[in-house]
Amino acid sequence: MKNLKAVVANWKMNHLRADVEAFCARFSAGYKQKEGVAAGIAPPFPYLELVGNKLIPAGVLLFAQNGLDKPKGAYTGEVSMAQLKDVGCYGVILGHSERRQYYGETEATLAPKIVAARENNLLPLLCIGESLAQRESNETLEVISRQLAILSQVGQGDIWIAYEPVWAIGTGRVATPAQVEEVHVFIRSETIRLLGKAGDEIPILYGGSVTPDNFPELLKTKDVGGGLVGGASLDPEKFRQLVLQTQE
Ligand code: PEP
Repeated sequence: MKNLKAVVANWKMNHLRADVEAFCARFSAGYKQKEGVAAGIAPPFPYLELVGNKLIPAGVLLFAQNGLDKPKGAYTGEVSMAQLKDVGCYGVILGHSERRQYYGETEATLAPKIVAARENNLLPLLCIGESLAQRESNETLEVISRQLAILSQVGQGDIWIAYEPVWAIGTGRVATPAQVEEVHVFIRSETIRLLGKAGDEIPILYGGSVTPDNFPELLKTKDVGGGLVGGASLDPEKFRQLVLQTQE
């Protein structure tokens, strides 16, 4: 899978039904699936089925933005991995920095979620990344290494990783190709150290203020296997352009 490239749209808590319908119509009008490049969309929970019905037939992969590790029961407000699978999800974003920051997600809560996702045949898309303070105090690689240690807890199995420097998410401040390459090459060395040969196969996406203007340069850097995109992915034309750039 090392050659697999992917672009995943993280819509966060944006769009209402009419926006979702308009997006699907406009995106699918010009989208062509290409072997070796996956396009994924992570809508808010209420629109998973709607996006799935409209875009899974075109080859788009459906992602959720979170899921609980418990199989079922009295967990008001939560959604299980089995339920995500049941409505057509291919994968689930886990450990996004907004979930770490606002909902206290940590490696301790994320490890069972990765296991539960895999048990339900969902691909975990694990987000990692350093804060501005950590970058400025030269702790970036140490933080990344600490966040990746989860891989040895959860063992072998499918996973994608998104490197998302927290200071670049939603800020318009994209990491430079050199900064991205340094961390992606380090992530690759860590995944190989922790998982052996399988660690060489994991797609590593970059996320943080990606737009069609900066993405082509980032895609040229070593070990960048695509992107996880927030703001720009809300616009169907921009998202389609990002997919096309990944297909080039
Ligand atoms: C994200 O939410 O994962 C993200 C990278 O957002 P943005 O592209 O808006 O920075």
